[in-house]
Amino acid sequence: MDFGLQGKWALVCAGSKGLGRGCALALAREGVNVVITARGADALAATAAQARALGVQAIEVVGDITTPEGRAAALSAAPQVDILVNNAGGPPPGDFRDWDEADWQRALTANMLTPIALMKATVDAMAARGFGRVVNITSGAVKAPIEVLGLSNGARSGLTGFVAGLARDARLAARNVTVNNLLPGSFDTDRIRATHAAAAQRQGRPLAEVQAEKIAAIPARRLGLAEEFGAMCAFVCSQQAAYLTGQNLLIDGGAYPGAM
Ligand code: NAP
Repeated sequence: MDFGLQGKWALVCAGSKGLGRGCALALAREGVNVVITARGADALAATAAQARALGVQAIEVVGDITTPEGRAAALSAAPQVDILVNNAGGPPPGDFRDWDEADWQRALTANMLTPIALMKATVDAMAARGFGRVVNITSGAVKAPIEVLGLSNGARSGLTGFVAGLARDARLAARNVTVNNLLPGSFDTDRIRATHAAAAQRQGRPLAEVQAEKIAAIPARRLGLAEEFGAMCAFVCSQQAAYLTGQNLLIDGGAYPGAM
């Protein structure tokens, strides 16, 4: 299927590794030029080179997307933003009794306020051009909160509520600008490896045992692949997905037990 995205420009935040990288490369495969951001230059250069090898332009922006400077650099590097993939590192696990206001502010800035700032900077121009796709990478924890990820549960739920309203603004929806959230379950990335290692340490158990237990709880009996996540992102950004907006799409190998 041709997704009709040849020559579009995407800003993929936090896209040098993991799920962001999966999205950047899947979009590049569809002929989308990409601006990719990350704090570390080496992995970013490698991912950008892989995108270029797919025949598109790829611009690397080294910086922290959760800062005003990082966002300004990312936005000014993009000739235009037809597709915005919002992503950033997830907050650390822990006990809410140990978190102070600065911990909450960091989580809110990274996982709620930064995506909102980037949407504010881009969606009206998308609407004026008559095409726009925003994909926010959130978490399966929005539907089924994970106790130790309270900072993530809280910040991402705030973003989810905001997006539910924004996506239904006819100034966007009637101008072919869609806003959707992709909710990863457990994907094989650095982040999930760190989460499992932290759980093993907390529980004083071998890492392999904790990993096997987590995988046994997923009906697909495996972790998801960043390529699978990226393919879903590319579809949500496609011309064919123009009537899909304001949705929370869970990609979790069947882990969430509810009917809806
Ligand atoms: P990952 O493999 O650790 O990759 C994170 C990427 O984001 C890297 O490219 C990293 O590069 C970049 N990054 C992190 N903080 C950044 C910042 N402040 N500014 C710019 N770039 C930044 O993580 P992932 O598994 O892909 O996870 C992506 C998001 O999905 C996270 O928010 C995570 O919590 C969430 N999530 C993941 C899973 C999962 O199973 N993997 C499940 C639920 C939710 P640098 O470090 O070089 O900046």
